[in-house]
Amino acid sequence: MTAEKANVLVVEDELNLHEALKLNLEMEGYEVTSAFDGNEALKKVENAYFDLIIMDVMLPELDGISVTESIRVHNNEVPILMLSAKNAPADKVLGLKKGADDYLTKPFNLDELLIRVAKLIEKNKRLQVKESIGDQYQFGKNLIDFKAQDAITWNGLRVDLSKKEAMLLKLLIENKGEVVTREKILQVVWGYNVYPTTRTIDNFILSFRKYFEEDSRNPVYFHSVRGVGYKYTD
Ligand code: CA
Repeated sequence: MTAEKANVLVVEDELNLHEALKLNLEMEGYEVTSAFDGNEALKKVENAYFDLIIMDVMLPELDGISVTESIRVHNNEVPILMLSAKNAPADKVLGLKKGADDYLTKPFNLDELLIRVAKLIEKNKRLQVKESIGDQYQFGKNLIDFKAQDAITWNGLRVDLSKKEAMLLKLLIENKGEVVTREKILQVVWGYNVYPTTRTIDNFILSFRKYFEEDSRNPVYFHSVRGVGYKYTD
């Protein structure tokens, strides 16, 4: 089994430093995506899952603190390591307040940065591990068989599930009672750097309701949380 490469977004407009960060991270085995201003960073975050963001404070158009705030407003818990100039100590407090997880002041030691990056990614992975459910799962009169990729629905019908349907069901059920964000679904079900539209995920949820809800217009199990993600309850 090979582990997926962790995906790091580097947001920095200084080209030399950007290149140095990218190179060092790639040497450590990370997949690196680049953004050179705040708006570009937000666009990248909207469309892909990242294990970590390295965010400079001083950026053209939209500064790193505002970008961080905007990411957190959308309930995205991606770890953020913030970088700032030495002569701006107030940025540190504000950055952490607005949701950065860690902070380095320029100029910094690259080895120290790499250690912090590894720690943040590791911690985030541990938080994401949930107790896993077995091969079969029953809710109401529905029975899902994840191994066989099929289900018997409440009205006695047998439905074949696609691999992605089975994966999304498993992800939602394993996080019972909690909202699973679109970013998390992207990561787990579609893999890194593949961008299905929100409508694609919506269509999966509509199918689940059709299969498993006695009244698909008043769902008991599969809920959409507007602008955030999806939730399973029973
Ligand atoms: Ca900068």
